[in-house]
Amino acid sequence: MPAPVNASDTDILALLRDGYSNLRISRELHVDKTRVARLRRKYDIPNVTLQPLTLEEKWATRTKLIDGGHLEWLGERAGATSTPVMRYKEASYSPAAIAFEKKHGRPPQGYVKAECEYPHCVAPDHVNDEAGRQEARRKVRAERGLGDLPTQCVRGHDQAEHGRLEPDGSAYCGMCKVLDKRAQRDPSMPRRIKPRATSLEEAFRLRAKPIDGGHVRWTGPITNTTPNLRYRGANHSAYRIAFRLHYGRVPEGQARPVCGVPGCLAGGHLEDRPMRQRTASLFNAIFGA
Ligand SMILES: [Zn+2]
Ligand SMILES: [Zn+2]
Ligand SMILES: [Zn+2]
Repeated sequence: MPAPVNASDTDILALLRDGYSNLRISRELHVDKTRVARLRRKYDIPNVTLQPLTLEEKWATRTKLIDGGHLEWLGERAGATSTPVMRYKEASYSPAAIAFEKKHGRPPQGYVKAECEYPHCVAPDHVNDEAGRQEARRKVRAERGLGDLPTQCVRGHDQAEHGRLEPDGSAYCGMCKVLDKRAQRDPSMPRRIKPRATSLEEAFRLRAKPIDGGHVRWTGPITNTTPNLRYRGANHSAYRIAFRLHYGRVPEGQARPVCGVPGCLAGGHLEDRPMRQRTASLFNAIFGA
């Protein structure tokens, strides 16, 4: 016979909250049934007649709705990052993953985490899995017009399998990232290859930052007052690329902003020589030469 354990109120409460009956708890913890019943009354935990809580029910008893529609996790946490965890029938679960499955009706693919500003939020509407994050990033990529995804990375890995996107929609190779991480730990491995844009357009858009008023600021280098885009070893005027992306044709002569914001790269704010000449003749026609 196992020696009777002196179970604490906390132990008993944990099982009560898991939905076990007084009898079951008294047997499992070797405690007096009346002590269990007393605690149940004291903490106002309803009597159970049949089943203990399901995984999802247990999850629900440990969440609290707070301002902003976030769900705070009241249960156990683990590790230095205080990540919510939930034990159920002697296994450990991620409350965020349960929230994901509740919303999507399928198990998550990859790591589930909250995408809202509330740390470790477990609101089903606020969590996403790796597949969902990649899908959202594909939309960001499409909105920013970063172009089709590459089929191969610079090292020749198949991007249908290893292609991943950053939150800003730029593409990277998941396999290269793994290899780079390994290389950082192992100095005998080849040095890291810098991530590269997969097209001139993508390289341009990654450095062109929209600002207030519909203007676009260049975050890359500027050479002799011209925003410069270096791509695959060649230098390009970012003005010319912005012009071409907007008007669908190569500018004649110099393309320059006419909006009054120096260095602006908004396609519609740029004019090339024929356009400047037209503007000038229009001006003369209205106001006289
Ligand atoms: Zn949230
Ligand atoms: Zn790669
Ligand atoms: Zn502008």
